[in-house]
Amino acid sequence: MHVPLTTAIPVAPEQCVSGFGTTLIVAPHADDESLGCGGLIALLRKYGQPVFILLLSDGTLSHPNSKEYPAERLRELRETELTNAAALLGVEAENLIFCRYQDRSVPSASDAAFKTAVGKLHQLLQSIRPQSIFVPWRRDPHPDHRAAFQLLTAANSQQAKVYEYPIWLQDLGQPADLPTPEEVSPFRLDISRVQSQKQAAIAAHQSQTTRLIQDDPGGFILSEEMLRQFDVPYETFYQSN
Ligand SMILES: [Zn+2]
Repeated sequence: MHVPLTTAIPVAPEQCVSGFGTTLIVAPHADDESLGCGGLIALLRKYGQPVFILLLSDGTLSHPNSKEYPAERLRELRETELTNAAALLGVEAENLIFCRYQDRSVPSASDAAFKTAVGKLHQLLQSIRPQSIFVPWRRDPHPDHRAAFQLLTAANSQQAKVYEYPIWLQDLGQPADLPTPEEVSPFRLDISRVQSQKQAAIAAHQSQTTRLIQDDPGGFILSEEMLRQFDVPYETFYQSN
């Protein structure tokens, strides 16, 4: 039975991040890192913890019909936006890793390309040696988000601590997508002192938050409702039981 985890989620004070150590943020798309973990990243840097951000997809399907931004230019734009957002959160460009899997085709466990992708991610984990990893919630309603969790789970043989963050769960989640009290424990991180920094990082993704790309009216834009949902003084994470 799936019981929504909405009641009395404990709030952790910001200082708790000082024990997280080297941290890897796995972002399927450029903007997931700021929406789901922007406050966390700012706090990790504030408390001197090394942070790496792994971007899985090339982001080229957000505006597939733009002539002004064909796929390659759109990929460059989205990588630049991630670089700008990361800088606002205190993460240097040299700590960003771009995988460039095709948007909506990040390899999942049922894909032929999964094994190779797991091998690459495993190698990366060997070189970064993160103590903590943040990855989208395992049943977040987007195929690339679920694939990200599957890839990370298969590659994480070093047993880094894994925390999951929701992005589309509240907006698009079905009852069966919700976490159950049996599988995870939720907690909220107090990000009140870096909330404006997080908002600036989200806004750095101009192609996703404004009509920067004007020649694809059907292109993706984060709704006001989604942006409001992530403009709160806490971030929610799930830790496996
Ligand atoms: Zn995403």
